[in-house]
Amino acid sequence: MALTDDELDRYARHIVLPQVGGVGQNKLKAARVAVIGAGGIGCAVIPALAGAGIGRLTIIDDDLIELSNLHRQPLFRTADVGQGKAPLAAAFVAAQNPFVDVRAIAERIDPANAAALLEGHGLVIDGSDNFATRLAVSDACVGLAIPLVSAAAIQFQGQIGLFQARPCYRCFVGDAFDTEDCDTCAEAGVLGALTATAGGFAALLAINFIVGIGDDQSGKLHLFDGERLTWRTIAIPPDSACRICGSA
Ligand SMILES: [Zn+2]
Repeated sequence: MALTDDELDRYARHIVLPQVGGVGQNKLKAARVAVIGAGGIGCAVIPALAGAGIGRLTIIDDDLIELSNLHRQPLFRTADVGQGKAPLAAAFVAAQNPFVDVRAIAERIDPANAAALLEGHGLVIDGSDNFATRLAVSDACVGLAIPLVSAAAIQFQGQIGLFQARPCYRCFVGDAFDTEDCDTCAEAGVLGALTATAGGFAALLAINFIVGIGDDQSGKLHLFDGERLTWRTIAIPPDSACRICGSA
């Protein structure tokens, strides 16, 4: 798959990097990535991936834009309140980079439809705001053998991890949250700039994974403290009793 002259110009600052080069840029072009949630995390992830030249980007979100979203969701304007997030985020991508095949799915992802919506993607990035969705996405990713970048931000805390087969995200959070469909941001609050930090990190993790830059990050959870402005990394142990990946 050759890059056109326009693509060589557009991605010149990538291609000059020895860790990326033409080979890495072609890996990004060949990648099919699904982003769950066009909220605070998604609004950082989506333009970063589109700018990087991800070949196909699927944006899944059934939410409508609310005024209280705008402090952390810079893809949307005041005049957009009441409109759907997925189609507007997709329109942003289409204008940002015509080389990205972007698709908007304005559906709520759940255990019944997750596998069908995610099948065919090589990577899923979950920036949804509730445990029920995150667990449904994770379970489907394990079943389909799709790597998952999970990113979350609440109050001043950010957490981002890459999950491949085992340990899975369910090993990390357990089974207690499947029915708890709370909007954690609404209840607990979140600093707007924190979602950009966590989302930007998730995009970097995803791009490094696709291109093959750096060490294997599977099973590591990166935690950001937005008050102390510090990062730390912990290893997530596989849960031997996990009902999704435990018997694998
Ligand atoms: Zn598991």
